[in-house]
Amino acid sequence: MSLYPLFANLAGRRVLIIGGGEVATRKCQALLKAGAIVHVGSPVLNSTLQTLASAGSIVHLYGRYQTAWLDDAWLVVAATDDDETNRRVASDAQDRRILINVVDDAALSSFQVPAIVDRSPLMIAISSGGAAPMIARQVRERLESLLDQALGPLVSLLDEARGAIRSRYRDLRARRSFYDRIATGRVWQLLRAGRQRAAASELQRTLRLPEAVRSGHVALVGAGPGDPGLLTLRALRALNEADVILHDRLVSAEVLELARRDAQRIEVGKQAGNHHTTQDRIHALMLEHARAGRRVVRLKGGDPFIFGRGGEELEFLRDHGISFEVVPGVTAALACAAYSGVPLTHRDHAHSVQFVTAHCKESLDTLDWNALAAPRQTLAIYMGVAQLDALRTRLVAAGRSGATPAAIIENGTRPQQRVIVTTLGALPESAAAHAVCSPALLIVGEVASFAQTLAWFGAAPVSAPAEAPVSAQQPQRRAERRVA
Ligand code: SAH
Repeated sequence: MSLYPLFANLAGRRVLIIGGGEVATRKCQALLKAGAIVHVGSPVLNSTLQTLASAGSIVHLYGRYQTAWLDDAWLVVAATDDDETNRRVASDAQDRRILINVVDDAALSSFQVPAIVDRSPLMIAISSGGAAPMIARQVRERLESLLDQALGPLVSLLDEARGAIRSRYRDLRARRSFYDRIATGRVWQLLRAGRQRAAASELQRTLRLPEAVRSGHVALVGAGPGDPGLLTLRALRALNEADVILHDRLVSAEVLELARRDAQRIEVGKQAGNHHTTQDRIHALMLEHARAGRRVVRLKGGDPFIFGRGGEELEFLRDHGISFEVVPGVTAALACAAYSGVPLTHRDHAHSVQFVTAHCKESLDTLDWNALAAPRQTLAIYMGVAQLDALRTRLVAAGRSGATPAAIIENGTRPQQRVIVTTLGALPESAAAHAVCSPALLIVGEVASFAQTLAWFGAAPVSAPAEAPVSAQQPQRRAERRVA
């Protein structure tokens, strides 16, 4: 360790800044926030500093730098663009044992100003010891996105309740475990939902509970279509805090990788024809783990409220008095469209888009085919690969032209993504020719032909069936996995 980290209490203490430009202004603003008495020495001040001086918020020391300015200063920041002045200030400060920072000059400085993540009163300071400030800044950006804004209010709340917490949990171990629970439990959820007052009463309530009672929580989280870059920050945080993750088969391994190492992962995928977990079993698992006081993440492919039975799961949780939250995800239709270059709406070609599921004959029977067959609209069809023949027949019977462009996006957003561009009339043959397997999303509508010209991700799209016969080396597994 080449530098000793510390947080300075500068409230009511004098700090001298030499320089009157942009850099000096930034330093000045941060120091004022920390409650320092700021003296700024410079022949000229920029307009912001002038305003602060006129308002009496800072003291302006007029003219060229003089040693006497250092009197009574605890810290000095030299922010001029004149090397000679910076050097003189540094040397004078050194003689007087006053800590000095010369902006962007580690050699002349006796302290450095770190990059910070401010969740006041919680504060994170990052330094590369002057070696590579850009890297420190990048780390700061990553932490900024990882740490919830609600951390600040949480720390303040715990500060207010510190006395009560100490008297309730005299033993250090018990206190530690209480803090662990608070940092992720109901109080935390309420703060994240912006409900400060409710969080404060929940904290008081928790303090009155007998130690054994712990309330679990379920976060219904959308994992997106596969590319982990499409997770929301909220989803990432939920994964980082989870004790138990109940995930669907559709959730990609890359997304699961991002979860807390110690979290228990349980696959509850429902797979047609195969060994599967029933919805009742999923409900029972959520209940069991939440009642044991665990933080459960129910992780679903795409968005939990789009063909994901998210509504039913929340109703179940509500009926059983388990607290919950919902984190949306990027649904397959949006993700597959984006990653195949198909704009779902387009001023010239489609003025609306419908999300439809077609996973069995019964679900097809419930749809309004006349409405679905209208021109200049886009259909994003989920779970439709096994029903392509029926889809074609019904849409054409309802008046949609067989020449309407269609695109099948298999494994959208994943490295193995395939896009097959075809027409409504040739849908089933195209899918068969390319041995399309699950998961695949179907887009029907004028916009689908854009996949040919706007493709940008993964392998180039193939047109079917004539131009691209199935490869002889098509892996065996592909055919086996074909949707039943
Ligand atoms: N809740 C999910 C949909 C679940 S239904 C969501 O919002 O995306 C499952 C269907 O979604 C699959 O049969 C397929 O049609 C579609 N799907 C999900 N992920 C996909 C992916 N990566 N690529 C293509 N289609 C996908």
